[in-house]
Amino acid sequence: MIITIITIIISLTITILACLYYWCSTPIINEYNSNIPGPKIVIISATHGNELAPHYAAVDYFNNHKISKGSVTLIIVNKCGILFNDRQQGIINPYNDINRKYGSGEKINNIIQKYINDATLVVDFHESIKYDQEGGLGNTIYYNNSYSDVENLINEINTTYKGPQWVSYKGYLPGALSWYCKKRDINYMLIETCKKDSYTRRQKITHTILKHIYYKYLT
Ligand SMILES: [Zn+2]
Repeated sequence: MIITIITIIISLTITILACLYYWCSTPIINEYNSNIPGPKIVIISATHGNELAPHYAAVDYFNNHKISKGSVTLIIVNKCGILFNDRQQGIINPYNDINRKYGSGEKINNIIQKYINDATLVVDFHESIKYDQEGGLGNTIYYNNSYSDVENLINEINTTYKGPQWVSYKGYLPGALSWYCKKRDINYMLIETCKKDSYTRRQKITHTILKHIYYKYLT
C-alpha cells in the first residue's frame, strides 16, 4: 500500500516537473498589429525572471495604447523565472541564463531570434542591482545603431527625473542578445533600470521610454 502511494507521488511529481519544463521552454508572445505598414518594434521583457518592474510596465503600456502604424511584438521571455522570481528558470533549470544562450541553438532563444531578425528596433528591458558608477549596469542604455534615439531618451529621462542620472554606452557580452543583434546588425537597445531606485520610479522611467518609442515609431 505505502509503496503504491509513494510510486503515485513520485510519478505525479515527475509529470508536473516535465510539464513545467515544457511550458518554460517557450516565451509568451503578444502581438499588436495596426494592419498599416510601418516599423516592426520588438520589446523583450523578463529575460531574467526577477527583473520585473519594466516588464509589468511594458505589458500595461501596450494593453492601454493602441498603435496606428506598424506592429509591436512583446516577448515575455522567462515564464519559469517569473513564476519562481528567479534570474534563471528556478528549480526547473536553475543554471540556464537565457541571456547567454543566443546563437546556441536553445529552443527558447531560437524562437526569439526568429522574431527579431527583421525587426526595425529591438528594445530589451533588464534591471541591474548596482548603478553604472558602482560597477553595475543600472541606469544605462546600451545601443548599437540607434544613437539619436538613445541620446534623446537619456536627455528626456535625466531632465524629467531628478536623482541618479542615466548614461549610454557601447559594449556587449558574448551570447547576450546585445551580442546577437550587433553580429546581425539588428537595431538594438538594452535598457537597464537599477533596483536601488524605487519600483514606482523604475516603472515610470520605463513608461517614459515606451512613450518615446510609441510616438516615434507607432503613431
Ligand atoms: Zn537582466
